[in-house]
Amino acid sequence: MTGIVRSIAELRGLVAAWRREGAGVALVPTMGALHAGHLSLVEAGLSRGLRVVVSIFVNPTQFGPNEDLAKYPRQEAADVALLSAAGAHAAFCPAVGEMYPAGHATRVDVKGLTDCLCGAARPGHFSGMATVVTKLLLQCLPDMAMFGEKDWQQLQVVRRLVRDLDIPVAIVGCPTVREADGLALSSRNARLSPAHRAAAPLLNRLMRDVAAKVAAGVSPTPLLEAARGALAAAGFGPVDYLELRHPETLALAEAAPARLFAAAWLGDVRLIDNVAV
Ligand code: AMP
Repeated sequence: MTGIVRSIAELRGLVAAWRREGAGVALVPTMGALHAGHLSLVEAGLSRGLRVVVSIFVNPTQFGPNEDLAKYPRQEAADVALLSAAGAHAAFCPAVGEMYPAGHATRVDVKGLTDCLCGAARPGHFSGMATVVTKLLLQCLPDMAMFGEKDWQQLQVVRRLVRDLDIPVAIVGCPTVREADGLALSSRNARLSPAHRAAAPLLNRLMRDVAAKVAAGVSPTPLLEAARGALAAAGFGPVDYLELRHPETLALAEAAPARLFAAAWLGDVRLIDNVAV
């Protein structure tokens, strides 16, 4: 790996040097604490023959005042070792002051798509995410940027902002990487207690079951009610949402084409997942 770059100027210099060699560039935005899900995004860039830059930045503006910003895992050295082994070309690890210097006053707000699901449960989250992703895309100016389908609403918001702001980049959505028991990989899973880790796969199991029944024509409302009951019985805390929505507009849906979306708490860890119907 070329190494770690910390300034926007260094990042632009690196990308310009690659361009002079005729290489294409992929950007993989992350908040670090990397796992196989992130590495699948790196591989999606490498398999297209691109130079891959992975940004590692725990973005404070996408966390609410009572959220887990302080507890979010930070392990840069381990992350960089994983990226080197995976064949990534560079890690972009800016400090907060590089991304948000004094006087920074601009936000990117994507209306409509951000009113529901995680946008309703986490006010301000998508504005912070959209702002930092816009900045990263303009700093790097990659040919492609890779995002996980695990954060499906985020993927739709990014597609929209790129279209609306005429940013010349192709957004590539990559399938959710899961544990063998179905739990979607997440940096937050490490905080689950052993009992909660054992209960966690139920979320995806129930979602796949509901999705299969809805696809077969069963009405979703009673299925979703029963799934909420099963989650509560298994020790889940509040369910922020368990909803069937159109995959692109995110409007509520009663039947296919749809995606089933969930966010549910286990202790102080919030799990999210989504599956196709
Ligand atoms: P994060 O560091 O959690 O903000 O995620 C950075 C990128 O990795 C986002 O595009 C996520 O959607 C993606 N990602 C996170 N977990 C997974 C997963 N289990 N499978 C695929 N992509 C993922």
